[in-house]
Amino acid sequence: MHHAPETLPTTGQRALRAGLIGQGIQKSRTPAMHRAEGAAQGLALSYDLIDIDRMMPVPPLSQMLDTAEAQGFAGLNITYPFKKEVIGLLDELSENARKMGAVNTVVFRDGKRFGHNTDFWGFAEGLRRGLPGADLSEVLLLGAGGAGGAVAHALAGAGAGKILIADQNLRAAIALAKDIAAYGTRAEVVSDMAEAARRAKGIVNATPMGMAKLPGTAIDPALLNPDHWVCDIVYFPLETALLAAARMRGCRTLNGSGMAVFQAVRAFELFTGLAADPARMRATFESFTETPA
Ligand code: NAD
Repeated sequence: MHHAPETLPTTGQRALRAGLIGQGIQKSRTPAMHRAEGAAQGLALSYDLIDIDRMMPVPPLSQMLDTAEAQGFAGLNITYPFKKEVIGLLDELSENARKMGAVNTVVFRDGKRFGHNTDFWGFAEGLRRGLPGADLSEVLLLGAGGAGGAVAHALAGAGAGKILIADQNLRAAIALAKDIAAYGTRAEVVSDMAEAARRAKGIVNATPMGMAKLPGTAIDPALLNPDHWVCDIVYFPLETALLAAARMRGCRTLNGSGMAVFQAVRAFELFTGLAADPARMRATFESFTETPA
């Protein structure tokens, strides 16, 4: 019996459209992860970049959603600056999306729009697999922005005893601490980094410090000790100064690829109803060698 190669469109192949709405997304690896996973599973899956930097004038978000829905999209990923704004345009929210007040994945089904947050699960799954058994009794979180919020909620969901939150924007740190406390996890805003590092079992960087365009670290690496586990969610580059310093001191470390890969794994499952292969999606993620600034 003849079998057509899996990646070639064949008659009767299930077609599916998805995309990413956001700003400054031209170098995102998410489209490639979805396209390759779709092809490997025999889907004719297209994934469009809907980049507001490339639109003149920029249509309202509501119109971009209407258009995608009318064109039969299965769903959309949503990123900066729309993760909060999109909530007002949806019919239902998952529990995680509601807790976080942010949506990064929209599914169109039965004439309704469902909002999910797969960054939350992505971080948790990356941590569970990448640093199994990590002591979560007291965790120092650097950065209380959008990604820091996903990390904090994921840590809380993973059973963290207490989250110490540091941000140069004190209001952001206070708001996140309140938010986490509302869900029953102890949280504390910290500014004395030496004391916070002494108390913490693990440290997560969710500030942009360490990105190619923002070199440096949000914590003095001299404050790391070998008993700390250290996670950096920055992924351009994957090897940040913080992770390099942590490894030199003998710390267990985790880079930003897990969160990026697993948010896409869960989004693929939401778009298609099919289980994704995390190893295959990670291989696509890692096939990029360039380091966008
Ligand atoms: P954001 O701008 O919403 O938040 C960043 C926060 O960090 C701000 O509150 C800011 O005040 C704080 N901050 C900046 N420098 C600091 C410093 N030196 N000390 C203390 N606080 C500081 O950005 P975001 O959307 O939360 O993203 C943060 C970074 O996370 C991004 O730059 C990106 O590299 C990374 N990220 C990774 C993934 C992933 O999947 N791995 C996903 C999203 C974001």
